Amino acid sequence: MYQKASLINKIYKGRKMKVRYFDHSATTKVSREVLDSMLPYFSYEYGNPSSLYSVGREAKRAIEETREKVAKTINVKNEDIYFTSCGSESDNLAIKGYAKANRKKGKHIITSKIEHPAVLNTCKSLEKEGFEVTYLNVDSKGFINIEELKKSIKNDTILISVMTANNEIGTIEPIKEIGKIAHDNNIVFHTDSVQAIGNMKIDAKEMNIDMLSMSAHKFYGPKGIGALYVKDGIDFERQQDGGHQERGKRSGTENVAEIVGLGTAIELADYNLSSYIEKLTKLRRYFLKNMREIIPDYKLNGDENLRLPGHISMSFKDVDSQELLAKLDSYGICASGGSACCSGENEPSHVLMAIGLEREYLEGTIRITLGEENSIDDVNYLLNILEKLVGRHK
Ligand code: PLP
Repeated sequence: MYQKASLINKIYKGRKMKVRYFDHSATTKVSREVLDSMLPYFSYEYGNPSSLYSVGREAKRAIEETREKVAKTINVKNEDIYFTSCGSESDNLAIKGYAKANRKKGKHIITSKIEHPAVLNTCKSLEKEGFEVTYLNVDSKGFINIEELKKSIKNDTILISVMTANNEIGTIEPIKEIGKIAHDNNIVFHTDSVQAIGNMKIDAKEMNIDMLSMSAHKFYGPKGIGALYVKDGIDFERQQDGGHQERGKRSGTENVAEIVGLGTAIELADYNLSSYIEKLTKLRRYFLKNMREIIPDYKLNGDENLRLPGHISMSFKDVDSQELLAKLDSYGICASGGSACCSGENEPSHVLMAIGLEREYLEGTIRITLGEENSIDDVNYLLNILEKLVGRHK
């Protein structure tokens, strides 16, 4: 029923073509279990969690249950989780909130050149308010340089924010090491784990993480709901004035149904994590091995192994990715040209520029991100179509 109602399938049904979705880093389909768990909170469990009577208490209970699920997944305390409207808001709240509450301690922040705009533009906005930001370089695989990080630390550095895994090239940063350096220097460490949650095990305590952002729609939850972890004792300023919700740090009546959806999604993601990683890693390796045979001169961006399990960013010489993506679409293949949230800007990707991708490959980059609904049959289909469309470069 749900599948049939989806607009995507309606569009492609008209074309009598199966949709092959390879853009799980852009977003994922809300899973059946997640949707089922949310539905009561749109109808008979409609209470306001701040109300003291039973309908309100049930809404409150459901929120606290999700808080526990999120906290358990990343091994932190329940009361250190705050619900937000998305990953971007979590990044804003963490970085602006911490910087503004701690400006007396210092005004220097360190981040990387390959962060998502939710972090980069937040840092730019803080620069306008007198903060100083160092943007770390990355190497050709997308890793920050630990020595450069150490050298960038100053007496007034208050915050380091480096993403767990990159959305465009899939590279996983050495988070535990970065967190250790931050702590050795009395600096708070924030990481944007929007792409990582659901794709790798994150233990915030063990990985020296003080603040962490996540977003449900990247792990089969609904869009428009996120969470932020802030370790007990770290002060941060609310970014929106209003009521007492989320212990006064994030005002506004809670989005109960979506919070419940996030809870179900993260619980399922955590429960299935090892089999999910195994499945995606196998499919990715199969795809890459066969790609080498059909189009030997493509470039894989990011590290071959230290990457998100289903993430493939590849570049073809002298190919226009926009044209290629449109042709792939006509075969029912959904893929993206980089990051969905940044594409449409007509500027070369800041991430591909930062890794130093050669000019002749820059325009020819596509991102394939595998997920739950992909099978070996889908991957074979994709390989066939790519051979047909780009194989002339053999
Ligand atoms: N951070 C990263 C690494 C992302 O990939 C995204 C979205 O793609 C975001 C933040 C923003 O998340 P949201 O779409 O929930 O605002």
